[in-house]
Amino acid sequence: MSASKITVENGQLVIPNEVVIPFIEGDGIGADITKAMKLVIDAAVAKIGKRIEWKEIYAGEKAFNLTGEWLPQATLEAITEHIVAIKGPLTTPIGTGIRSLNVTLRQVLDLYACVRPVRYFTGVESPVKHPEQLDIVIFRENTEDVYAGIEWEASSDGAKALRAFLMNEFNIKLDEETGLGIKPISRKATERLMRKAIRYAIDNHRRSVTIVHKGNIMKYTEGAFRTWAYALAKKEFADILVLESDLNGSVCPKDKILLNDRIADNMFQQVLLRPSDYDVIVTTNLNGDYLSDACAAQVGGLGLAPGGNISDTYAVFEATHGTAPKYAGLNKTNPSSLILSAVMMLEYLGWQKAANAVVNAMEKTIQSKVVTYDLARQMDGATEVGTFEFAQAIVGQLV
Ligand code: NAP
Repeated sequence: MSASKITVENGQLVIPNEVVIPFIEGDGIGADITKAMKLVIDAAVAKIGKRIEWKEIYAGEKAFNLTGEWLPQATLEAITEHIVAIKGPLTTPIGTGIRSLNVTLRQVLDLYACVRPVRYFTGVESPVKHPEQLDIVIFRENTEDVYAGIEWEASSDGAKALRAFLMNEFNIKLDEETGLGIKPISRKATERLMRKAIRYAIDNHRRSVTIVHKGNIMKYTEGAFRTWAYALAKKEFADILVLESDLNGSVCPKDKILLNDRIADNMFQQVLLRPSDYDVIVTTNLNGDYLSDACAAQVGGLGLAPGGNISDTYAVFEATHGTAPKYAGLNKTNPSSLILSAVMMLEYLGWQKAANAVVNAMEKTIQSKVVTYDLARQMDGATEVGTFEFAQAIVGQLV
């Protein structure tokens, strides 16, 4: 039987047993880790009687070499046609005119929630004493904030015009050579992210939802995010949520989900000092970017941290690290981030059994100390293997 596309019926995804999934290989180490990811995922889904037919689509350097474009329209169309896709890392030149392809993809497809689960894998070296206490899922807003790309280079016509406007209208004086950027935070984007995070907490039996913001300083952006997030929670989920402020220090009832908020700088110390107090985190774009990498480092590094960019329909799962160009083509780096992103994809497809099997097999492989260089250099008595051999070892542990 040939594979077919995911469809949507009455707002629900209909997933065929043999499904076509587009993938972007990615730049740098992308080819190595994508090959490893496909090996593991193909083996896991075969065990539950399913099949993925991988359809290559192009972005980044490979797309540029083939088509002269960094992000061809055909790639965006393939993702909307197939609804779910997975990608490796893409190069973003710093300080040039080319916008981040990742940011463009998220904005064009309106993939408004960046979902980053962070958990510990036994055996991985971590800089903290109890890394296993951190088990959180970060919902980072993906389309707004200072990442919206509304910015002007210092001394450009746009910067001059905006500086003059601010001076004339508001008497705000800015130095002549000042780069300018705008930080938009809207009620609409805040509400839909908060709704998705709370639904996730309910569906996955999580204990708390924490709004992370810097509203004490940026009152009308980060502060508004906090206000709107609380308001949405109270309006739509009052029956299941309990506000921390209403508990007066007592314990949250077992059948309820605790709702609280933390200022971003405090949150960085909270995840280090009281990791087990936190569960689902909802935050703005920049806070979420910093916090998710810091949390990933806390449990042993970015090589193991997966991510998904999700709208109300479309989802693009991706490795959270970059292209690590110095290791390109060396079959050396850790494919776990991309494999675990594919695990999130299997969960999104409803193929939970295959997803669990991959996580268990990866855990066993790491515990057996058969690992790539990044984990091997931190482990006593490890056997260092290449990217593909690590994937083969995971397949060997699949049950
Ligand atoms: P990076 O590619 O993530 O690499 C930084 C370091 O992290 C590597 O040198 C390596 O550390 C370690 N590392 C990354 N991936 C690893 C893996 N799979 N296994 C083991 N170790 C891994 O960060 P970068 O050098 O800042 O960025 C390079 C390019 O990637 C830039 O163009 C950037 O814009 C892009 N980028 C893309 C994405 C994306 O597509 N989502 C995300 C971030 C960055 P050691 O040197 O210690 O071995």
